[in-house]
Amino acid sequence: MRVEVENVSFTYMKDTPFETTALRNVSLTLEAGVYHAIVGHTGSGKSTLMQLFNGLEKPTSGKVSVGEWEITPETKQRDLHELRRHAGVVFQFPESQLFEETILKDVMFGPLNHGKTKAEAETVAREALLRTGMPAELHDRSPFELSGGQMRRTAIAGVLAMEPQLLLLDEPTAGLDPEGQQEIMQLFYDWYREKEARTIVLISHDMNQVARFAENVVIMEQGEKQLAEKASALFTDESLLKKYQLAMPEHARLLKRLEDASGKPLDLNAFSDEAALERLLRFLREGDADA
Ligand code: ADP
Ligand code: MG
Repeated sequence: MRVEVENVSFTYMKDTPFETTALRNVSLTLEAGVYHAIVGHTGSGKSTLMQLFNGLEKPTSGKVSVGEWEITPETKQRDLHELRRHAGVVFQFPESQLFEETILKDVMFGPLNHGKTKAEAETVAREALLRTGMPAELHDRSPFELSGGQMRRTAIAGVLAMEPQLLLLDEPTAGLDPEGQQEIMQLFYDWYREKEARTIVLISHDMNQVARFAENVVIMEQGEKQLAEKASALFTDESLLKKYQLAMPEHARLLKRLEDASGKPLDLNAFSDEAALERLLRFLREGDADA
């Protein structure tokens, strides 16, 4: 689903002494079928922006369009119930929202709430659990008997079981060990690649992650959109990264070191182990050819 944000501002606790403006006149377009990322410092408005994409919040002014839905300050919450199924959110620390007595029941809750029969809900729930790495023998366990990583996987299965078109990920791997982070990011990516129309919006502080998976990056700062740029252009441009205080991803940084040391220009546009290794081998072979 395509997301279009037009002149959106958002203020928490408007007209109270605690009033906080989280978004100021933001306009942006996130095309369908693309993996997007939103980056920026803590408090820059990333999570607030994302909560507009599934109608969890409504703009204080301006308009958000998500697929066929339009969300304005006047939109009624009940008109957004169906949108919630199509736009799934994995919040930060989603495991805190597990509540059923078994993980299967927990994952079935959303599909049941959106009109699936019990049998249908069980089928999609089991599929989603297997996809997130939760084998059948765990499905009847209580969420509270699981490890932190398994609870996270269960919560993610609950979102995938809704069969969303648009997946909204707010720091989905925060607090996991590096291996768990890799696995979870890969499972989102596999989900994304499965169908042409699927769209992801990822919020992350990890520029290695963002460069590895996202095609398009939006930079937020103090509630304002600063830039929307292709990941390949942003993450190979030292001066842009410096301007927005973003780290160069480590694969590109390695290639940059080699470029600086050798004086030979290198294509820095490599953000996975495979791509970086390929560049390194090519550099080596070209060196051999020159000798
Ligand atoms: P980010 O996700 O980039 O860290 P947020 O969208 O969470 O940014 O926050 C943007 C601004 O809105 C911050 O100033 C934050 O303190 C404020 N804010 C966020 N959530 C709430 C809330 N529920 N009530 C009041 N202010 C909030
Ligand atoms: Mg946030």
